[in-house]
Amino acid sequence: MIHFEGGKILNVSVWGDVPPDADLVDAGDSVVMPGLVDSHVHVNEPGRTEWEGYETATRAAAAGGVTTMVDMPLNSIPATTTATAFEEKLAAAEGKCSVDVAFWGGVVPGNVNELAPLVERGVRGFKCFLIPSGVDEFPHVTEADLRIAMPELARLQTVLLVHAELEGPINRAAASIANRDPREYDTFLRSRPREAEDAAIALMIKLCRETGARVHIVHHSSSDSLDLLRQARNEGLPITVETCPHYLTFAAEDIANGGTQFKCCPPVRERENREKLWNAVADGTIDMIVSDHSPCTPELKTQNTGDFLDAWGGISALQFSLPVMWTNFRSRGFGLTDLTRLMSEAPARLAGLDDRKGKLASGFDADIVVWDPNAAFTVNPELVYHRHKLTPYSGREVHGRVEAVYVRGELVYNCGEFAPQPSGELIT
Ligand SMILES: [Zn+2]
Repeated sequence: MIHFEGGKILNVSVWGDVPPDADLVDAGDSVVMPGLVDSHVHVNEPGRTEWEGYETATRAAAAGGVTTMVDMPLNSIPATTTATAFEEKLAAAEGKCSVDVAFWGGVVPGNVNELAPLVERGVRGFKCFLIPSGVDEFPHVTEADLRIAMPELARLQTVLLVHAELEGPINRAAASIANRDPREYDTFLRSRPREAEDAAIALMIKLCRETGARVHIVHHSSSDSLDLLRQARNEGLPITVETCPHYLTFAAEDIANGGTQFKCCPPVRERENREKLWNAVADGTIDMIVSDHSPCTPELKTQNTGDFLDAWGGISALQFSLPVMWTNFRSRGFGLTDLTRLMSEAPARLAGLDDRKGKLASGFDADIVVWDPNAAFTVNPELVYHRHKLTPYSGREVHGRVEAVYVRGELVYNCGEFAPQPSGELIT
């Protein structure tokens, strides 16, 4: 039994000690679990709200059992790379959120003096790219830029999230695909080889060792660098790793021509790669699983031409992380404690929220998801609360229906209905 009051959990106990004046909700046979913490979400507001905004993203989060999400510093305009830009983002998000939202800042060339003010104002850490990000207002950093920024991040005791792909191997790959059909998934896959990730991981391990800054690898895909990461961990370096549901669910061999809803960077790779990622989840090399929800307008996904090279790279699936991963877990021998560890506790720790989020324990926020692990449903556009309905999970049968979601004790979602007023807080 979970007893909460004033938004906080008072205690978690066995049945039998209901105070006479308490409101009692019986969850029946459903699972009662800490809400998911999704530390990798691109909301895009302000500036690209037509791609996704706070209202739609946080409703989708609530419907998917995500009670806290951490917004990426791009693809909003302005990007969250200065304290002034962060104020604009906070103003844009204010009053619109159905779940709690925290924020990452960005490291770009030349903004080292903004890092301390951003931390002061409440960002949970910083994201950078080692390769063009896809949007002009968020340029990527070089090793030289990182040698300036990372000592400052170490001084600030904050974390650097890294999009780990390097340009060299990708530029070399470009020549080899020149005459290939851009509608074939294999063409796109060849354009983003594993070597690009592997070289970037090696660079970040080196810089982590030299600067002492905490490093977190986002959306890890290449199984070829898992051993490098294992060695770095054994060495005691402060490096953590996330992967995403799509890398653990899909396989390149199964993606049809023109299926640009599957395009993301780094790409979904071969089945053999996927199985090695699962081994890394099992042995703890991969610390967490988060969505990397990165939507755009349907036009930018170029479904009309099916051209993988033109399409925006980003997968839209924030709402379905819980059922998708539970469906995988059931068939692979993982349990509910793994789900909570990988999708609530670890991302909360990454974002420095592990004193209040990600656990059902006394003193923590009463962020709770009640869900039926046996209920099956088919993902279809009518169920989707994201601004745009295109998702690679469409048509897939999954297990795990979210029934009720509480954020700091407030019922924000209940079997398809949302609370009349959004009550999510901006965490700064
Ligand atoms: Zn991302």
